[in-house]
Amino acid sequence: MLTNDVLDQWDRENFFHPSTHLAQHARGETPTRIISGGEGVYIEDRDGKRLLDAFAGLYCVNVGYGRQEIAEAIAAQAKELAYYHAYVGHGTEVSITLAKMVLERAPKNMSKVYFGLGGSDANETNVKLIWYYNNILGRPKKKKIISRWRGYHGSGLVTGSLTGLKLFHDKFDLPLEGILHTEAPYFFRRPDLGMSEADFVAYCVDELEKMIAREGADTIAAFIAEPVLGTGGIVPPPAGYWPAIQKVLNRHDILLIADEVVTGFGRLGSMFGSDHYGIEPDIITIAKGLTSAYAPLSGSIISKRMWSVLERGTDENGAIGHGWTYSAHPIGAAAGIANLKLVDSLGLVKNAGETGAFFNEAMKAALGDHPHVGEIRGEGMLCAIEFVEDREQRRFFGAEKKVGPSVTAALLKRGIIGRAMPQGDILGFAPPLCLTRAEAEEVVGKTAEAVREVLG
Ligand code: PLP
Repeated sequence: MLTNDVLDQWDRENFFHPSTHLAQHARGETPTRIISGGEGVYIEDRDGKRLLDAFAGLYCVNVGYGRQEIAEAIAAQAKELAYYHAYVGHGTEVSITLAKMVLERAPKNMSKVYFGLGGSDANETNVKLIWYYNNILGRPKKKKIISRWRGYHGSGLVTGSLTGLKLFHDKFDLPLEGILHTEAPYFFRRPDLGMSEADFVAYCVDELEKMIAREGADTIAAFIAEPVLGTGGIVPPPAGYWPAIQKVLNRHDILLIADEVVTGFGRLGSMFGSDHYGIEPDIITIAKGLTSAYAPLSGSIISKRMWSVLERGTDENGAIGHGWTYSAHPIGAAAGIANLKLVDSLGLVKNAGETGAFFNEAMKAALGDHPHVGEIRGEGMLCAIEFVEDREQRRFFGAEKKVGPSVTAALLKRGIIGRAMPQGDILGFAPPLCLTRAEAEEVVGKTAEAVREVLG
C-alpha cells in the first residue's frame, strides 16, 4: 500500500483540485486529507481519524456512507453491462426503470426526465432546452435567464454565470451576457432592518418586477432558483416568497427552473422542495440525492407544458441536437434505483423532516443567545449559523478575520465536518438524511464548544 507521504507528494505534484487555493496547496502550506472509508454518517481518513460528516460530502451522500445495497447494484450492473448509450431511443432496464421512479416521485405536471452527470451539466441542458422551446414557439428574443445573487447553479460557462457568487465570476469573464441576477430572499441580510418579512418579500418581488420591466418580458425566458438557497448561505425563503414570485413569473410567461440539486429526494423533509413550498416549476434540476453520490448522475425533469413543445420541435426539425455520451449511464442508473429504494425503506424523507427539526431546535437552544450568533436557520436536514460582530446592529465581521473558517476548523478538530460557506461567516450543516438524534446532539454539542473556543 502506498504511504501517506507518497500520496501527499503525488497529490501536490499532479492533482488539480476543485475549489482549492492552488498555490498554497502546491507549496504544501495547506493540509491534505486522504479519505479511505465511510460508514453511516462517519468517514475515516488514512490516519485512522474518524469524522462525523455533517455536510454529507457536498450535501450529497444522503443515505450515508457504506451502503452495500448500492455498491452491489453498481457491481452487478458493471458485470452485466457497464455501458450502452441512450441516443436514438436506446435504453437499459435500469435507465428506463429509474426514469419511471423519478417521475413517480416528482411533483405533478412533470412529463419526462433527461439524465446527465452532475448538477452543472443538467442546468446547462435546461438553458438550452428553454432557448429551443422559445424558438419553437416563435419567440427568438425571449432568451434571458434571471437568477439570484447568492444562487448556486454550477460552475460551467452558463451555469457559473447563473451562480450568483463573486468567487465564481471574478477573473473568469462571467457572467455571460443575457444572465441577470436579482435580489436573494435572504431576510437576515435585508437592506433595511426595519423591514418585516412581508415587507421584504414585497421588496424582492418589486426588484424582480423592475428588472422585468427594464429588460422587457419579451426578452426573458426563465427564472432559476433553489427552493432554499444552498451554497449562498443555506437560507430558507421568507414566508410567502414563493407564491408571490410564482405569480410574477406566470404573469409574464417566464418559465421557472427549480434547481433541486440539494433539495431533491428528501432533504427538506419532503420528496421535493417544490412540493414543500408549493412551487410549480417547468423544469426541476436533480443530482446529488438521486444516487446519494454513489455514482455521478443528474437529471432535468421536464413539465408536460414544455414537453409538448419539445415534441413539436422535433416534428418540425428532426431529432433534438442535444446529448451526452454518458447520459443515463447504466452504472449511475443502477445506483439511483438502489438509492431511491433505500430512501424509501429507511424512511429517510420523514427522518430528514423530524430529526432535521430536532437538530435545528437543538442548535438554537445551544447557541441562539450567543452574542456573536446573528441567526440560526434551517429547514429539514439543513442548518446554518451566521456569525456577526454585533448582534444588535447586525454588523458583520470583516472577511480578513476569517471567523467562519476558524469555527469550522475548531469543529473539525473535534471530529465534526461542517462547511464554511463561501460568502459570509456562515457555518453550514447538511448531514446525511439518516442522522440520528444522538448524532445530531453530538454535532450540536461540539459546535457549541467550537464557537466558544473561537468567539468566547
Ligand atoms: N445546483 C445546485 C443547487 C448545487 O448545489 C450544485 C452543487 O453544489 C449544482 C447545481 C452543481 O452541481 P455539480 O457540482 O454536480 O455540477
